[in-house]
Amino acid sequence: MNQPIEGKAGRYWHVLADGRVQCDVCPRYCKLHEGQRGLCFVRARQDDQIVLTAYGRSSGFCIDPIEKKPLNHFLPGTPVLSFGTAGCNLTCKFCQNWDISKARDFDRIQDLASPAAIAEAAVQSGCRSVAFTYNDPVIFLEYAIDVAQACRERGIKTVAVSAGYICSEPRVEFFRHMDAANIDLKGFSEGFYKNLCSGKLAPVLETLEYLKHETNVWFEITTLLIPGANDSPAEIEAESAWVIDRLGPDVPLHFTAFHPDWKLTDAPPTPPHTLRMARRVATRAGIRYVYTGNVHDPAGQATYCHACGSVLIGRDWYDITTWHLSADGRCGKCGTCCQGVFEGAAGEWGRRRQAVRLRVSEHVN
Ligand code: SF4
Repeated sequence: MNQPIEGKAGRYWHVLADGRVQCDVCPRYCKLHEGQRGLCFVRARQDDQIVLTAYGRSSGFCIDPIEKKPLNHFLPGTPVLSFGTAGCNLTCKFCQNWDISKARDFDRIQDLASPAAIAEAAVQSGCRSVAFTYNDPVIFLEYAIDVAQACRERGIKTVAVSAGYICSEPRVEFFRHMDAANIDLKGFSEGFYKNLCSGKLAPVLETLEYLKHETNVWFEITTLLIPGANDSPAEIEAESAWVIDRLGPDVPLHFTAFHPDWKLTDAPPTPPHTLRMARRVATRAGIRYVYTGNVHDPAGQATYCHACGSVLIGRDWYDITTWHLSADGRCGKCGTCCQGVFEGAAGEWGRRRQAVRLRVSEHVN
């Protein structure tokens, strides 16, 4: 049975003139009295410092296809050991993982796992990477970074699935340890972020520009399209134009389908034609790799050569059905380079999802 553990000393905070302690991890800048928790729930003030109360505590482990993160240009077809903790630093009304991200106690926490135990589990299960997902790893960055370091020592890569809502100083440290990321760009207006996420768009755009221009992290972008909220052609045009202008044509963009959940149950599911419209708009704007997600759409989930139009990678859900890429990521027909992290052949994990129970680690701190 899991035992409660003490919080681990957190980084990025300072004491204010009025005696409160401010957390400087994300742009919420929670100002805490002794014993208070931040909005994310997992960072708290304890003995006049900020501690991470979720260190070593996971909401369970699963082996997923890497395409489920979604990442279509990072070791396609390979399995990724995935886990999260509890809590979140945004309050999205449409959250699709609310049972984890809104957890306000640790009843979701199933496993105690040291960084070394997670890296070992990835090696033993044949995973090529470990993903911090289900909730945002920004809020448990000290744990995520220790896991990433343990993984690198074992030749395992790491993937951050994040909303990119992080301040500039921790952003540098956090992404230095990541090999790949999928960043949720939840909408393309400050109004959307304010009204539906109680956050801001600008820091997310800063994270995207930082990743592109200051790191070697392979990253892709996901926008969940919500009918009537962020799915107008004008908003998708604006987002696509920004991506082309600030990030260039080679950052893959995924438009995924919303299902009514959490506090947004009055909006309908995203119709497939909206996803196809968004894909057309972004492709017309010049983005080379645009995908639909959460629907069965093999044409919208294939990777095409931007020069000759050949299918480079065909997909049926998370199964790889076609592979026409050389080991260095070139089109098998015309030799044009496709950006990403590729090997000579696709992995063979397929669409399986497999729960994993880690052996309980006694020493997680
Ligand atoms: S990481 Fe958590 S505690 Fe820190 S500012 Fe963000 S929401 Fe507040």
